[in-house]
Amino acid sequence: MKHQKTLTKAAILLALGLAGQHTAAQAPATALPPPDAKMQQFVSKLMQQMTAEEKIGQLNLVSVGFTVTGPVVSQDVDAKIKKGLVGGVLNTFTPVAARKLQEMAVSQSRLHIPLILGFDVIHGHRTILPIPLGLAATWDMPAIERGAHLAGQEAAADGINWVYSPMVDIARDPRWGRVAEGAGEDPYLGSQIAKAMVHGYQGPTNDMTRPDNVMACLKHFALYGAAEAGRDYNTTDMSRQRMYNEYLPPYKAAVEAGVGSVMSSFNDINGIPATANKWLMTDLLRRQWNFLGFVATDYTAINELSAHGLGDDKKVSELALNAGIDMDMVGEIFVRNLAQNVKEGTVKQADVDLACRRVLEAKYRLGLFQDPYHGVSEARAKEVLMQPAFLQTARDITRRSLVLLKNDNQTLPLKNTANIAVVGPLADRPVDMLGNWSGAGDAKQAVSILQGIKNVAGSTVRVTYTHGANVTEDAQMIARLNEHGGQLDIDPRPADAQIAEAVAAAQKAEVVVAVVGESQGMTGEAASRADIGLPGRQLDLLKALKATGKPLVVVLCNGRPLTLPWENENASTILETWFGGTQAGNAVADVLFGVYNPSGKITMTFPRVVGQVPIYYNHKSTGRPYAGVALDKYKSRYLDVPNDPLYPFGYGLSYSTFTYGKPTLSKTSIGPNQGLDVAVTVQNTSQRDGEEVVQLYLRDLVGSSTRPVQELKNFQKILLKAGESRQVSFHLNPDDLKFYNDDLKWVAEPGEFEVMTGGNSRDVQKVSFTLTK
Ligand code: BGC
Repeated sequence: MKHQKTLTKAAILLALGLAGQHTAAQAPATALPPPDAKMQQFVSKLMQQMTAEEKIGQLNLVSVGFTVTGPVVSQDVDAKIKKGLVGGVLNTFTPVAARKLQEMAVSQSRLHIPLILGFDVIHGHRTILPIPLGLAATWDMPAIERGAHLAGQEAAADGINWVYSPMVDIARDPRWGRVAEGAGEDPYLGSQIAKAMVHGYQGPTNDMTRPDNVMACLKHFALYGAAEAGRDYNTTDMSRQRMYNEYLPPYKAAVEAGVGSVMSSFNDINGIPATANKWLMTDLLRRQWNFLGFVATDYTAINELSAHGLGDDKKVSELALNAGIDMDMVGEIFVRNLAQNVKEGTVKQADVDLACRRVLEAKYRLGLFQDPYHGVSEARAKEVLMQPAFLQTARDITRRSLVLLKNDNQTLPLKNTANIAVVGPLADRPVDMLGNWSGAGDAKQAVSILQGIKNVAGSTVRVTYTHGANVTEDAQMIARLNEHGGQLDIDPRPADAQIAEAVAAAQKAEVVVAVVGESQGMTGEAASRADIGLPGRQLDLLKALKATGKPLVVVLCNGRPLTLPWENENASTILETWFGGTQAGNAVADVLFGVYNPSGKITMTFPRVVGQVPIYYNHKSTGRPYAGVALDKYKSRYLDVPNDPLYPFGYGLSYSTFTYGKPTLSKTSIGPNQGLDVAVTVQNTSQRDGEEVVQLYLRDLVGSSTRPVQELKNFQKILLKAGESRQVSFHLNPDDLKFYNDDLKWVAEPGEFEVMTGGNSRDVQKVSFTLTK
């Protein structure tokens, strides 16, 4: 009940548009409690009755659905469930399907052990929310937690009890298609979001027995986002110091928040693929971080150890189990090899028992031994799924995720506009609005941007639509995307004819809204791109529209930072909308017409050209930092492009304007284990109420190791009335000054620190203090 009350309050805040009034680090960290005596006894008693084969069966996760992301498909699932050879099933939902599977396990298998039922609930379930990179751009932790809870409630009502989220892989390379699925490049923000999502799914106290909570699965452990060259599944090789300081914090934060399970990643890490990496799965995750849940692999990741070059099926089975893997997703390596591994003594029975115990404990934590159906029924599903309040919440969250990248201060918000030409391949595409990993989403229920504009503009405004260009002209890409359910809408007419038609429509209008970008299938898994500009002839379309002389509003739909030099130079305004989910069109229109004042900020740097990648705000100084002096040659710089990005981390505009004072500190010198207060005055200098994300960065100027030029340490999203000025206060804790040194010790080192505050990572004002010995 307590949880529901909290949510009602959150829902009210959201409805009032006040969800942003909070500080960043507010989600309580409540680690997963160790198994109590009752749980231990229950599981031990059950395990005493289990055969060795049934124990291995619990480690087997099979797929019965439509989503196949690897080479293997599960066979004879029903028979295996009845024989006790399946511990969990993924890729199906609906109360009927879930009940059918669960009944097989609980009434037809010898020991009646219920199944854990998993699904990729990534950004909403039936009510689809913005892609995670968009969710992150809200910088709004209560909204993100509420979104995850909404997704979990729908998933639970649909028979799912385990969701493969949050994905917290730090990513600095927008070529990687999966940047869409994570929170971007920053470890601090990523950690806040990881916590908010875990509590959204599992509830604030991780009580997963509640029928509207589900178990979260932290992924992809680890460092999957650092794939070389941004090519999916590629190798990662990284110093431990970089790992601990820059890539691991969000995973650790999720463990500290009590995440119930972890998914191993596909990639190689310093020569040992994650799925066979004992240091990672056991020393770090369990011994250092005290993780008490279970570890499942990613899809056929154990089988793939052979392609990595670690040996045959029998060998990789041994390596994975001994590394600390508990559950084998789809590959059936464990069911086919573990018994032999034990017989030959390469795997200890005690370790198989431990893995089995962890899976059973997860089921116990979910309350499945009491109610294997977790309260699922068709009546409940009808009540819960896509209820009007959820759609309202989705619209509100989506509005918060939109980022105004450029504004000429006259075109937007649209007002007194009688005639709008909507143009572009993504304007009338409900299916693309759902974005990647929206398996249970229904495109028929999604609002396209064209529809949203019509809804919000009202009947007095004339809205015309032309396609203008295909989202790509690359025949091979079209074939590949369609093969994997891309559902592209390709106009066979010559591109020039399509552009000419759009130009004719633009000439008759007062303003052009061009909706361009990527199709949803161009991001996500196995969707890396080496060229991250607008694909196909879309840039030519924009150029032709610009030549009409009409104000040009560019609305972007995409799942990664794109290179947008021409667009930035020439468009009147640019609104980044990601893939906004079920309510995308309404939310985008709310911003275009000024019903909502945009407040999102990007969480990944937008490069000028792809050659700058990897590009991220929290980089090191180098010994020859470039300070912008044109003729300086022997500096760390390019000859042909500037070092700085097009749009920096944390950047995003509003219809309001904000000015910042210089930060002030409560002390200019602190001793070890002391903190200090930072205050900064922010004023809304416009005529409109607006929200601003006030950001605080720190730089450690002298240390035993080189330190980043700035690191986000805190933020607050605040609402300022027109003309209002407010002092925003932050507290810097002793921990905020610490980092992992070369010996991987968590230390704060005496010396000077710079504190920076501002509305993005570039436009900051500084003040410094000293940490004394
Ligand atoms: C993806 C995971 C996903 C899993 C199950 C894999 O291919 O990498 O993110 O959770 O499939 O669908």
